[in-house]
Amino acid sequence: MLDRFNRKISYLRISVTDRCNLRCNYCMCGNEFNFIKSDKILSFEEIYELTAKAVEYGIDKVRITGGEPLVRKNIVHLIKLLASIKGIKDFSMTTNGIMLFEFAEKLKEAGLHRINVSLDTIDPDKYREITRGGELKKVLEGLEAAKKAGLSPIKINCVIRESPDEIDAKKVAVFCHEKGFNIRYIRQMNIKEGKFWPVIGGEGGKCSSCSRLRLSSDGKIYPCLFSDKVFSIRELGIEKALKEAIRSKPKEGDRAGNEFYTLGG
Ligand code: SAM
Ligand code: SF4
Repeated sequence: MLDRFNRKISYLRISVTDRCNLRCNYCMCGNEFNFIKSDKILSFEEIYELTAKAVEYGIDKVRITGGEPLVRKNIVHLIKLLASIKGIKDFSMTTNGIMLFEFAEKLKEAGLHRINVSLDTIDPDKYREITRGGELKKVLEGLEAAKKAGLSPIKINCVIRESPDEIDAKKVAVFCHEKGFNIRYIRQMNIKEGKFWPVIGGEGGKCSSCSRLRLSSDGKIYPCLFSDKVFSIRELGIEKALKEAIRSKPKEGDRAGNEFYTLGG
């Protein structure tokens, strides 16, 4: 489906939980004071129905995210359900990789195509500091397991302050080169100030070609991270929420970030 500015809306990002097993110092997720009550979280059936309808409307690229998607109970079952929808050409997940060792093979078997793993440093102490307690070794083991399972290509999301020339980012780049992973740099955003930049080595952040819709874990569709517009699938019904969200996609983000990030994005 085309929006008002002739952009083909083809990419759906689904947040399956707002919970996380890390608390990265730049991230709005993992703040327990904002957690969505568990009875408000979408069921697998609701996520399936929404995704199937979105595919009918032209979505062919689906990414599962969070919070941390691997902490959602029975996530492998959800992946299996979504993989059964005909028409999804690109089915991926963004994860912090902490639980990937346990899940990589099961995710591949369930029908996931590929993964993005977040990694800002390969120094265990800095990793622990940034993630407030995370163990780098687990992520590295998870990456190996993902490679072995054939989740391919593996992309690394590396958050930088200003430039890919920062020392940690450079070391992550060398690591990726050695291991055959692709690296994408994401400049640290200040959601409250509405400061956002295109992903270096990725497609995100360019308003003129933005093809995305985002679904929060409590069933709200956000046409843009930097707009007030939001459409609840529970209040409006799936079809209406989807159509209105596509119709309301702004030409470009025009304000500070919305609540999507705090709701798990
Ligand atoms: N927990 C998963 C992970 O970390 O990969 C998925 C969700 S996380 C919100 C998705 C991506 O957003 C991660 O790559 C993370 O580094 C990035 N991110 C979070 N807060 C950010 C910020 N303030 N600026 C830029 N990127 C951010
Ligand atoms: Fe958790 Fe990902 Fe946010 Fe880090 S960036 S706190 S891993 S949701």
